[in-house]
Amino acid sequence: MVEPIQLISKEERERSIEKAGYNPFLLRSEEVYIDLLTDSGTGAMSDRQWAGMMLGDESYAGSRNFYHLEETVQELTGYKYVLPVHQGRGAEQVLFPLLIEEKGHFVLGNMHFDTTKAHIEMNEARPVNLVIEEAYDTAVDHPFKGNFDTQKLEEFIVKYGTEQIAFIVNTVTCNSAGGQPVSMANIKEVYRIGKQYEVPVIFDAARFAENAYFIKQREEGYEQKEIIEIIQEMYQYGDGLTMSAKKDGLVNIGGLLAIKDDSELFEKCRSMIVPLEGFPTYGGLAGRDMEALAIGLKEVVKYENLEQRIGQVRLLGELLKEGGVPVQEPIGGHAVFVDAAKFLPNIPKEQFPAHALAIALYLESGIRAVEIGSLLFGRDVDTGEDGLSELELLRLTIPRRTYTDNHIRYIADSLIQLYAKRDSIKGVTFTYEPKILRHFTARFKMV
Ligand SMILES: *Cc1c(COP(=O)(O)O)cnc(C)c1O
Repeated sequence: MVEPIQLISKEERERSIEKAGYNPFLLRSEEVYIDLLTDSGTGAMSDRQWAGMMLGDESYAGSRNFYHLEETVQELTGYKYVLPVHQGRGAEQVLFPLLIEEKGHFVLGNMHFDTTKAHIEMNEARPVNLVIEEAYDTAVDHPFKGNFDTQKLEEFIVKYGTEQIAFIVNTVTCNSAGGQPVSMANIKEVYRIGKQYEVPVIFDAARFAENAYFIKQREEGYEQKEIIEIIQEMYQYGDGLTMSAKKDGLVNIGGLLAIKDDSELFEKCRSMIVPLEGFPTYGGLAGRDMEALAIGLKEVVKYENLEQRIGQVRLLGELLKEGGVPVQEPIGGHAVFVDAAKFLPNIPKEQFPAHALAIALYLESGIRAVEIGSLLFGRDVDTGEDGLSELELLRLTIPRRTYTDNHIRYIADSLIQLYAKRDSIKGVTFTYEPKILRHFTARFKMV
C-alpha cells in the first residue's frame, strides 16, 4: 500500500500541539508527518499478505487459515501446540494465571515489557529483572545487552527455592533495554538453568527474527547459518512462547501462544482461551488476519528483509552519531534512542527533558517520537517523588517497510538542526496528571 503523508505548516503544528496539551500521544495522526511512536502494528503488509487477506475463511471453527498458521508456527518453532490470540497481551492473559500458582511467586526475566509486567502483577506475582549491568549504561558497547545475568538468575532461584519461582520469561530482543539482542549461548544457559531447577522458560518472542539476525551478525559460529536455522535452534531452548505478531509477524493486529509439548498445560490454555479471546481456531482474529500472519512469518525470516529493516535503523543511528547527537549504543533492532539527559543537560528531570525534546522535534519537523524516561516511569508510590528514571531517552521507533531512506535522512537532519539550537528548548510541567499510566493522557504547559 502507498499512503500519502503531508507536512502541515509550522503555525498549524503550533496550534495542534497546543490543542493536544503538549502531549504527542494526543495528536491526530493526520497532524503528523513521520510517525515514530511505535513499530507495533504500524508496518506495511506485502502484496502476498494482501492477496492472502482475500482468501480468508471466516468459519467460526476449523478455518483453513488457522491450519496454515498452525503449520507455519510448528515449522518455525518446533512447538506442537499453537493458539492464535488478538495480540501479545492476549497470550499473557491466558497463560500467566495458569503458570502462577500462588500469590507472591516470582517471574524472572531479562527485562519485562510493560504489559508483561502488568499481567504478572495482576496475578499478584512479582516480576524480577535480571538483565546484565551493561544494559543500564547507554555509552557501553556490548554485542548482547539483552542477556540475562545467568549467575544472578541461578543465585535467585537457589535463594528463594524452586517452588517460589513461577517461570522465566526470555524476551528476544529485549524491548525495554532498547531492542537489544540475547545471544544463543545465553539463551541456552538460561534453559539449562530452567531445566535443572524445573522452572519453565517462556519466550516473549515479539522480535524473534531481529534477534536471530543479530546472532548471525555478532555470535561466533552463526555467521554461515540461515536465519531460519538460528530461529529453530533458539526455540529448542524454551518450553513455550507468547508473541505479539504486530512486530516480527508483519501484521497490523494479531498474536500467538504456543506450547512445546506439555499437553496438560495446552489443554488448560485451550479452555481458558474460549472466554478470554475466542474459540481456539480463531482466538480473536478474523480468518483473513490469520492468513496474513502465516505469510508474514514466512517473509520475516528472509535475510534481505531483516537486512533492510535493521539496516535502516542503523542508518538513522549512524547519521545521528556523525551529527554529534548522543544516542544509545550499540543501535538496537527497532529503534534509535536519543540520550535526552545529554542533549538537554539544563532541563531538570522533573521537567522531563525527553518529552520536551519530543515537543521540539514535532514543532520543528512534524515528526512524532516518544519519551522513555521519568514521565513514563511515574512517581514513587509512597513518597510522591518525581524524576526517578535512570535514563531520559527519546525513542525514534521505525515502522517496518513503511518509510524510505530519504525519510530517515530527514529525521536525522531535523534532530541535528535541533541539537545546534538546543539551548532554546524549554522543559514542561503538568496542567493535568492522571494517577495511572499518566504519559498517555497527561496535559502540559511549557516552562
Ligand atoms: C509489544 C510487546 C508485547 C505486547 O504485545 P501487544 O501485541 O502490544 O499486546 C509484549 N512483549 C514485548 C517484548 C513487546 O514488544
